[in-house]
Amino acid sequence: MITTTNNILYCNSLTEYSRLKTRVVKIGNLELGGDNPIRIQSMTTTDTMNTIATVEQSIRMIEAGCELVRITAPSIHEAENLRNIKAELNKRGYYTPLVADIHFTPNAAELAARIVEKVRVNPGNYADKKKFENIEYTDAAYDAELERIRNRFIPLIKVCKEYGTAMRIGTNHGSLSDRIMSRYGDTPLGMVESALEFVRICRELSFNEIVLSMKSSNPLVMVQAYRLLIVKMKEEDMDYPLHLGVTEAGEGEDGRIKSAVGIGTLLEDGIGDTIRVSLTEDPEFEIPVAKALVNRFINHKRLPEPLKPITHYPINPFEHKRRDTNSVVNIGGKHVPVVIVDYREREGDITPEILKEVGYNYNILTDKWNISDMACDYICIGNKEIDFEIPGTLGIIQYYDTWKNNKHRDRYYPLFNIENFFEINDQSPILNFLGLKTSYLTTEFINKIKDNKTLVLNLYSSDREEMIQLRRAFVDLINEGCKTPAILSFHFPFDNENEFQLYFSTNAGALLVDGLGDGLWDDCVNEISDKSSKLFNQTAFGILQATRTRISKTEYISCPSCGRTLFDLQETTAKIRSRTNHLKGLKIGIMGCIVNGPGEMADADYGYVGTGPGKITLYKGKEVVRRNVPSEQAVDALIDLIKEGGDWVEQ
Ligand code: SF4
Repeated sequence: MITTTNNILYCNSLTEYSRLKTRVVKIGNLELGGDNPIRIQSMTTTDTMNTIATVEQSIRMIEAGCELVRITAPSIHEAENLRNIKAELNKRGYYTPLVADIHFTPNAAELAARIVEKVRVNPGNYADKKKFENIEYTDAAYDAELERIRNRFIPLIKVCKEYGTAMRIGTNHGSLSDRIMSRYGDTPLGMVESALEFVRICRELSFNEIVLSMKSSNPLVMVQAYRLLIVKMKEEDMDYPLHLGVTEAGEGEDGRIKSAVGIGTLLEDGIGDTIRVSLTEDPEFEIPVAKALVNRFINHKRLPEPLKPITHYPINPFEHKRRDTNSVVNIGGKHVPVVIVDYREREGDITPEILKEVGYNYNILTDKWNISDMACDYICIGNKEIDFEIPGTLGIIQYYDTWKNNKHRDRYYPLFNIENFFEINDQSPILNFLGLKTSYLTTEFINKIKDNKTLVLNLYSSDREEMIQLRRAFVDLINEGCKTPAILSFHFPFDNENEFQLYFSTNAGALLVDGLGDGLWDDCVNEISDKSSKLFNQTAFGILQATRTRISKTEYISCPSCGRTLFDLQETTAKIRSRTNHLKGLKIGIMGCIVNGPGEMADADYGYVGTGPGKITLYKGKEVVRRNVPSEQAVDALIDLIKEGGDWVEQ
């Protein structure tokens, strides 16, 4: 099995759910890692100096199910105030462990480690200033810099050992040190090395109460970094628990989908001991999302029969490479993954009005279709028929028996099943769909279909360990040299729209991250409500955006806010979104503070960053373009900047 150059697997198993075994770390009265449940945590957004506001917000989080409360401690003053916060929480009967979030300042960390149960340090900026300079470090200069960090870091380790305080060494993709950037670039390997440099210092002092994280606002980078970290830890005989999170995931639906893609992908492979879903919303709203992601793995339903073992794993888990497939009309090959909405079960006729919910808006006056960037590519209508002129970019899928009698075959394609596919000669000369359960995908079957250049599979499995079954099927397709494109369908159980979005993102995201799947086919959502096609379509485009496989909207990289935040992030994000959400493909960073914001917004095209009370600094890429703009003018100034940059289009 090839999974890394050293043949080390990044998870316990690729063919069944199995939790990766890590050591147990004690955080106050809470055990994390090992066989303990996956812990849920979040971070306060109040000013740490406001004891009562922080205590009350912490209580709301705890009541919602938060098992670890993180509080920012940017300086020694806030670190000191953690004592009051903790005392007040204890007075009110709450003993949930607290975590001090530290950036830059060792003295704040050393004080906080005497007060709270855990400290989080960012190895990219602990005792370090990020200069965004691509300085060339010689080996000697690199080692000298590491020695300097070592001397600043050891006192904190000693305090943690003395007080029984745990530590998270939390790498952020956007805030790697200049030292790491110079040697590794902003790569998953750079992220891993950034943490391991600090871990090795801890181990020299026999300090092992460590938790590690590898966060990024890009779920692909985040997933690859965690996988690589596991392999590197195994190489060095380490087994530290992992804290999962996607940074700056944003708000609402997009934030939830992005988090589910990143966190869910890893959870599916049994990776992760604690999670934080970071949304630009009040922290108590993060908890139900985190719970829904984790609950899926409690009383997890296994497959009755284990899948066939994999003897050759053809997928590189550390880089995104799309599976090589035939190009069939607009599916597979170099085409972006397609979205297929299923109207087979929908009651009544298909009308132009219905298509509105999937991105096609018919204007009676002009007799034209307005087609949105998130218009689905195909609809499947089974035995139904359509009696109006379909939009120019839409394809229609019908059951073969209906399709064969259809006089208008232009952009109408047949759907076959395993029983009739090999018996019918009158197939479309262009594109044929075949619905196929993964259990039918034998070597013999693959050899029968692999030379058919008009075929696209609609691949699905049972609702148990669906992602794993589908991945197993792709391994066979690749190993047998079969380039037939495959659209993914899922049949997982869910109770409400929220669960549907999270589980769909988890299942589909985990495959798309590894380049598997040429599209998403709505095959299960129709049970929720008559709005379900819209929900599927929106979620599918959100998943494709989050996996960066198909960009159809503006991306907002907004921080979750914390005690450092200098403006109302939720309100500002909403304002910026309302003015810019038609700018397809643009990434806009909205960050609460100048201390971490510029680093954490990583690969944003434009940045809006709080610099002081009522003051905003605007960035183009990593470059400061306008400093200290009064906040009431800052959104307009951002729009001007986008216009000057040539990235503006009128709505
Ligand atoms: S960027 Fe946002 S979440 Fe990060 S430290 Fe600044 S205000 Fe807090």
